[in-house]
Amino acid sequence: TVIGTHRPTRVLVDEAAIKHNVSGEVARLDDQTELFAVIKADAYGHGLLRVARVALAAGARGFCVAILDEALALREAGFEQPILVLGVVSPEYVQLAAINHVAVPLVDAEWLESARPYLAADHPLAVHVALDTGMGRIGFRNLDDLRAVLDTITGLDGLQIEGVFTHFATADDPDTSYFQEQVAKFKQLVAAFPERPRYVHVSNTATSLWHAACNGNMIRFGVGIYGLNPSGRAIEQTPYELQPAMSVVSALVQCKQIHAGDAVSYGATYRASGDEWIGTVPIGYADGYPRRMQGFHGLVDGQECTIVGRVCMDQLMIRMPRAYPAGTKVTLVGQDGNNVISLQDVADYAGTIHYEIACAMSERIPRESI
Ligand code: PLP
Repeated sequence: TVIGTHRPTRVLVDEAAIKHNVSGEVARLDDQTELFAVIKADAYGHGLLRVARVALAAGARGFCVAILDEALALREAGFEQPILVLGVVSPEYVQLAAINHVAVPLVDAEWLESARPYLAADHPLAVHVALDTGMGRIGFRNLDDLRAVLDTITGLDGLQIEGVFTHFATADDPDTSYFQEQVAKFKQLVAAFPERPRYVHVSNTATSLWHAACNGNMIRFGVGIYGLNPSGRAIEQTPYELQPAMSVVSALVQCKQIHAGDAVSYGATYRASGDEWIGTVPIGYADGYPRRMQGFHGLVDGQECTIVGRVCMDQLMIRMPRAYPAGTKVTLVGQDGNNVISLQDVADYAGTIHYEIACAMSERIPRESI
């Protein structure tokens, strides 16, 4: 990957905000319940190792990632805390997971059979049994299948049940009916376990914020770390203030005056209606700033200015009330003076969720802690 250190575009990561968000959640948990920081996808675009370090300092006790490689990157960097991979790990790699003390999901009998040849008694694999209570993604869906596998495991060296978990599809929804169905299914399935595993966990951020009673003894706290409301705008109230950690900033590289009828960018979809000042900003859809943001705005020196013409791969143009010198700060996400553009604002305009905007910010943009 080539990282653009010689261009003024940056993703700024507010470590104090991350600390505030994590410690605020840890303070809400009872003594038995541990917070695992979900730092998959480069910590939702905020930087894996940076967020791992800050989250630990703020009280996180372990990590969740999506893929084995992310877990190995944490181990390579020296993190020794518990790590759980949330996605299905290919059975042929379970020994690599076991040697590195990385726990993985056990999702069905077929996976267990495929993993069996790779299990080794001297490096037992820690598994968290995944229960599909209504997400329709990974895990056991019925009691008979679950019981059969639990019976098989009893005689198996080389594998230990470290946890059991499920994932909710609608924890961020003001309507809790489907959520309650999943809770009931979870209770039914979890009763099949001869003993309670070390970790029982069901909560993503939304569940822990709004349904804490079912947390179990560990939560998988993701988007809240980054100060984002998991419901978007559906549930405005959070039990404590979440502080957004990510800003995306750049600077003008050129300023020019155009005149009535002059066009801007591919397709000549924008034409000036009179004399206009146009600034060029070195960020585009290759950086994860969506192409469909034409017509939205950025902040030039704190002033709201409309993005005109198509967003290009590496640049975009913005209409300004006057001339500004090259080097003037442009904020695409974040606050400058009294104006704020949130990831949620960008997501609304792009027709998606803030999660997608955050983790789509490409590796080409350097991350800097503030
Ligand atoms: N648990 C699982 C299984 C997940 O897939 C995710 C992320 O999608 C999380 C927890 C964290 O979710 P959130 O970022 O909404 O807290």
